[in-house]
Amino acid sequence: MTGAYFAAAPCAFCNIVFGFNPERVPSIPLNAWRIAEIITEGGEPPEPLPNVPICFDCLVKINRLRMEEGFDPITPLEGAYEPAEGFPP
Ligand SMILES: [Zn+2]
Repeated sequence: MTGAYFAAAPCAFCNIVFGFNPERVPSIPLNAWRIAEIITEGGEPPEPLPNVPICFDCLVKINRLRMEEGFDPITPLEGAYEPAEGFPP
């Protein structure tokens, strides 16, 4: 027997709820901005909180900015925005 499932959560950037494969979606720690601020200030960063997902529309915008800054775009894993096969772990 086969199954499929997906997770739904608000995007880390736009806060819109979307569906995704929880094992493949790109994500960042919930406190990523705070960690970046503290590192920029030269301080000791806190432990990262659990990761939050990034929706496809925001990933496109992030990649546009990354390429403008000379960084490689982030390539999501195949199936990141599709239901996962099988059953939740
Ligand atoms: Zn988003």
